[in-house]
Amino acid sequence: MNKVILLRFGELYLKGKNKGYFERILLKNIKENLKNFDCNVVKISGRYLVTDFDEMDCQSIIDSVSNVFGLASLSIADEIDTDIKGINEYISNFKTEAKTFRVTVKRADKTFPISSNDYERELGGYVLANNPNIKVKLKNPELELTVEIRENKKTYILTKEVTCVGGMPYGTSGRGLVLLSGGIDSPVASYMMAKRGMEIIGLHFHSFPYTSEQAKNKVKKLAKLLTVYTGHMTLICCPFTKIQEEIHKHCAPEFMITIMRRIMMRIAKIICDKYEAKAIITGESLAQVASQTVESINVSNDAQKTYPVFRPCIGMDKTEIINISQKIGTFETSILPYEDCCTVFLPKNPVIKPSLDKAIKEESKLNIDELINDALEQLEVDEV
Ligand code: ATP
Ligand code: MG
Repeated sequence: MNKVILLRFGELYLKGKNKGYFERILLKNIKENLKNFDCNVVKISGRYLVTDFDEMDCQSIIDSVSNVFGLASLSIADEIDTDIKGINEYISNFKTEAKTFRVTVKRADKTFPISSNDYERELGGYVLANNPNIKVKLKNPELELTVEIRENKKTYILTKEVTCVGGMPYGTSGRGLVLLSGGIDSPVASYMMAKRGMEIIGLHFHSFPYTSEQAKNKVKKLAKLLTVYTGHMTLICCPFTKIQEEIHKHCAPEFMITIMRRIMMRIAKIICDKYEAKAIITGESLAQVASQTVESINVSNDAQKTYPVFRPCIGMDKTEIINISQKIGTFETSILPYEDCCTVFLPKNPVIKPSLDKAIKEESKLNIDELINDALEQLEVDEV
């Protein structure tokens, strides 16, 4: 008998002919996630298995692998040969303190000669014989003893299921460039797109010396926290000070943020070209602040039209975003009190419904191409 961890995947079964591709990437991601543990990961039909691990590592392996996108649930299981006598013997010796139970047989191996229903009844009888105070309860029993008879001629016996993060395997949905601030929302937006399989690279604008080195380090820390899910992350830091000073000097103050956003989008577009990203991601949520009204979003979308802008937080309340941020472990870092480039030169009365014509007219007072080229020459790229 071997102790194994049985991993179940989620939505992959929807993928028809491409299923093999998704399964291969998921296997690679699971192995990468567990690279610091002494263990093996293999794919069997319909499941993955973690085998040959030290029992001392079992909980740490579960904590780690349950964050791999594409996995729906996992269980610690005993693996035995698929042999009626052996399975019967195992179940006959099964002892439990539970007061109610059911046996669930999953017969993926259709050559197994007894139907699931019949075998559930038979195995249930053995449990009753060996545990005098227990009763059968088919709905919501205290204990569900699951017997999975799989095509590899092995049977897996388990009693608990741990929910995993779900989503699609990381790296199967192209690459996206997230505009990563030090706030609460953009790390959540990154997580949500990564969960749908999009590989995330980050772009952070800093306004040194108006913003501190600590503010930049905070963003690096956030990127690092996201690697729990993504494995690795490229973070690009782009200086924004000169651009902000020029907007401040030449443009109507109420358009400060609108024009900043438009320039961020243009720079993001160029970085997408260079890094072969196919979408821009932001943490915007409708109506959260003046720059996140539908009019502001339209004006910012107009600045580049090559790539779609994904805003996964758009329909969420702040409390909902905070809940996710706590769940994924970025909240405590996000609320550290460091300034963001958007808080520098913040106008008293930003336009809430900017007109595109007016924004274009205001920004025409700047030499935008030159400002962007200057900034692009000073990019810092980190692998976190
Ligand atoms: P967040 O919590 O993500 O900072 P926010 O609610 O503070 O969002 P804004 O500051 O208006 O909202 O920023 C909206 C979005 O613009 C952010 O979610 C982020 O995607 C992007 N953004 C803002 N500041 C920066 C920055 N310094 N560098 C990169 N992207 C930024
Ligand atoms: Mg912010």
